[in-house]
Amino acid sequence: MTQYDLSQYSVAELRALMVDMVDQNDRLHAIMKLTRKDKAQLASNDSLISQASALLATMAPEAPAKAPHKAPAKAKARKAKAPASFVFYRGPSALDGAPIVAIATLRSRNDKTSDMVQTWIMRDDVDPINAARTGRDSSICGDCKHRGKYEGIGALALRLASTRSCYVQLQNAPLAVWKTRNKYRDLTGQLDVAAEACAGRMVRLGSYGDPTAVPYGVWVALLAHCAGHTGYTHQWRSFPEFAAWCMASCDTSEERVHAKALGFRTFRVAPAEGWTLEGREALCPASAEAGKKTNCQACHACGGTQSKARVDIMIPAHGGGKAIVTGVAA
Ligand code: SF4
Repeated sequence: MTQYDLSQYSVAELRALMVDMVDQNDRLHAIMKLTRKDKAQLASNDSLISQASALLATMAPEAPAKAPHKAPAKAKARKAKAPASFVFYRGPSALDGAPIVAIATLRSRNDKTSDMVQTWIMRDDVDPINAARTGRDSSICGDCKHRGKYEGIGALALRLASTRSCYVQLQNAPLAVWKTRNKYRDLTGQLDVAAEACAGRMVRLGSYGDPTAVPYGVWVALLAHCAGHTGYTHQWRSFPEFAAWCMASCDTSEERVHAKALGFRTFRVAPAEGWTLEGREALCPASAEAGKKTNCQACHACGGTQSKARVDIMIPAHGGGKAIVTGVAA
């Protein structure tokens, strides 16, 4: 195997290098009439990616420090004074600059996640149903393909019928939280208080909305004392720093290879029928297919590279749009 001297590279440079190499491999594979020289280049790129990946694993990411765990009695006293739900970010989306709001709700009856702190990331100026219908949800979902397909551009865009495959039911919790967004306590200028409210709790990054829409530093502050976290992002190509907290949401095997090369653990949604596990993947134990053995609060495998779990996770498509999930690139 070719050995490269990567010792002079920074974390950012190594990641950029890996993206370039993966892109080049994708292009060579797309052409498919590979010459001997192309194949040698592919092997060389793979070698470079794996050495860069191994080196990155030894370098400290720009990740939040693990929470020092407080004594239970102290945490209980602090929680008694904690706000029930609160706004922790209000400002431009890190994805496109449009106005968004991020809210934490401290109590949840969600069977799959159990009683985790839930975080809701939404457009501030338009309700989630209309935002999704007109494509303005790109401010909080980026280019996630589960949003559906749109006709028209800008203010005239409209989603085509039956193309949305996202499992989040917007008319339920997201709409209710959005409607009361101005009644929650505003902790945007007091993230230390917000972090105290999450102390010792499991936090779900993006119960609705992609965590990367909220600036990275806000999450660092919010998660400072939490017991753990789960999160998913479709924006893993652009925000590799979220690998510490989030799984890369993948819809195809090829995306999985790419995301892993960027340092992410992956969460793959497979077709509901005929699904199979790929190498180093485990079936989500809270899925119907696994017998709903546990919930996210107890499992917390989906905590990115900070999780103790090392395997990647797969879940067969579920929810109203599951028939649209094919497992192949659109
Ligand atoms: S693998 Fe664990 S943490 Fe991830 S979705 Fe399933 S139950 Fe939740």
